[in-house]
Parts: sequence; structure tokens; C-alpha cells
Amino acid sequence: MQRAVGPRRGGEDNVASVDAGYRESGGMWETHLDHERGSVGTGEAMGQMRIGAVEVDRAVEWYGPLRTVGDMFPGSPEDVWRDNADWLSPDFWNPVTGRYNGAVQTWVLRGGGRTILVDTGVGNDRDRPQAPALDHLATDFLDRLAAAGVRPSDVDVVVNTHIHYDHVGWNTHLDGGTWTPTFPNATYLVPRADYDYFHPANAHRMRPPRTDDERARFEGIRLVFADSIEPVERSGQLRLWENEHRVDETIRLEAAPGHTPGSSVLWVESAHSCGVFVGDLLHSPVQILHPEVACTFDLDADQARVSRRRVLDRAASMRATVFPGHFGGAGAASIVAAALPDGFTIAGWAPFPAPPRVR
Ligand SMILES: [Zn+2]
Repeated sequence: MQRAVGPRRGGEDNVASVDAGYRESGGMWETHLDHERGSVGTGEAMGQMRIGAVEVDRAVEWYGPLRTVGDMFPGSPEDVWRDNADWLSPDFWNPVTGRYNGAVQTWVLRGGGRTILVDTGVGNDRDRPQAPALDHLATDFLDRLAAAGVRPSDVDVVVNTHIHYDHVGWNTHLDGGTWTPTFPNATYLVPRADYDYFHPANAHRMRPPRTDDERARFEGIRLVFADSIEPVERSGQLRLWENEHRVDETIRLEAAPGHTPGSSVLWVESAHSCGVFVGDLLHSPVQILHPEVACTFDLDADQARVSRRRVLDRAASMRATVFPGHFGGAGAASIVAAALPDGFTIAGWAPFPAPPRVR
């Protein structure tokens, strides 16, 4: 079974802060209100990196165990987890509980005089029946952005790679009981295909849910639309795009459907360096080794496989750093094509410190 090789950086520094911010509650881990402060909240600890002239920061909103990897990646070969346990655990997987460890995070890009946020997490105060672990979060995420030097008024562009609750939440915040855009000067870029697919007026067009979990998620999307999308539409800040959208000469959005109909990736090419922010095209490094492994949340698993292979092929040939939405540990990696057919190998990890570790 294929293994990742290459240097492992950035993941071992924060062991002292491990567990400091988590408490177990009803079998689920929840964020403590001041968890991670000082470990991922400051510019230094966030371990900035650059893609050419573009500066990249990471602001982690939440990190913890979710479902078992058997539930999350039902088609994944069992031995890929076991054979790679020495580096998948603990950042990405807990072999004792079998659970997937995932982060919810925002990537901050600064370049060309612009501040761009890629995905905006879950947000505070949300009614999220589809995700009990992330229901009614109350984190200091905006303080973490501030620690990275980003005030809400600084943000020029918000990119939602797709419309799922964990990618659009901080689009808005509660202001006097009203959901209000968090970033008053930003244009919010949303894929039209997701806007159409998830719009409550089109609910009758969605395929029927296959499981109770799906039913809860499908119902939950109405709430997501109401509290995270409609307010930025009402304020005139929403911009829908399709196929491809160029933010500037170095930054380009491209459709990569499958996880959702409008799922997209953001390419950054600057001064012979390349990075790609892939949202939920990848949930686990196992999908780098085995791109055919689908996530149970992929609405169209076959289409997601095609998109994943296409984007990873290009990322490998460009020696791009790949920034997924939910990786724990170093958060991002560069990849190369593997000797085995159809897979990739991790060439190196990004220099971001791991979020506090979950045990
Ligand atoms: Zn997600």
C-alpha cells in the first residue's frame, strides 16, 4: 500500500497546548471558548507562507474528531490507514477510536493590495441540526483573524468554494438579532451552480435524501442559505460566477464539481510559485494517495473523483502546494505523482503549526 514520503514539518510544535482547549461533552468534543488562543491565533504561530508575492495565513476555527473514517470514506482500503498510521495519526485520524480528525479553517491570502478569505467556517450562534458537534459554536474566530492582522473591514474578497455550512458561516454574524455581512467591504464570490442547487426556491429539484443524515443536511441547508447567503445577497455584496472567474492576474477560481454541483478551487500563480485551495475536493491525505476514495459527503462521487484527479494532476505537475479545507496537522502539502498508477505522494508539508492535538 502506498505511503507518503518526505519531510514532515510544522506538526510537532504545539504538543504543550494539546488538550488545553477541548472538553468532552456528551461524547462529542467541543471547542472551549478560548481554545487555541496563542497556539494558532497569532501571526507567528500561524506560520505564514508565501506563494510568490502572495502571503498565506491560516485561521483555524475548530479542530476535533468527527465520524469514523469508515463512515467518512466508506470505500477506502483499511490497510491504507494502518500502513500510514505513523503520520496519519494523530493529525488526521485516531486509530483507537477510528475517528477522522478534521479542522474547520479559513485561508487568508494577501497580495496585489487585496485581502482574500477562502472559506469562512461555521460561524457563531448557528442552528445546525445537520452537525451537532458544530451547532451553536461560540469561538473567538474574529480575534484570530485580527491576530493575523485582518480586521473585517480589510477584507476585499470572500471566496466560498461551495455552499456548505462549514464554508460560509462567517460570511455573516448576528448584529442586534439580524444576520449581517461580517465583511462590510467585501465582494462575496459564490459559485452559481451551488446557489441554484441549494436555493430554497429550488428545493423541489434536489434528489430525495438517501439517509436520515442526508435528510438532516438537506433540511439544514435552508438555514444555511437564510443566515449566510441571503444577507450578503440583500446587501448587494454577492457575486455569482460559473466555469471560471479571475480575481486578478495571479488568482483564479475554477469549477471542480462533484462534492457539490458548484464546488470550486482557487489557483494562485505568482513568481513561478503555485498553490491551489481545494475546499472539500480533499478531506483526508488518504485521498491524495488514493484519489478514487470518495467522501461520504460528496453529492456526486464519480464527478468528484474526476475533478479530484484533474486538479491533483495539475497540482503535481506545477509542484503546487495544495490547501484543503479540513486538513489538521500542517494543513497543506505539495504533492508529486506516485510510482503507483493513479495516486500521488506527499512531497512536503506546509510550515503551518498543527492546531492543538486531539486525543
Ligand atoms: Zn467542508
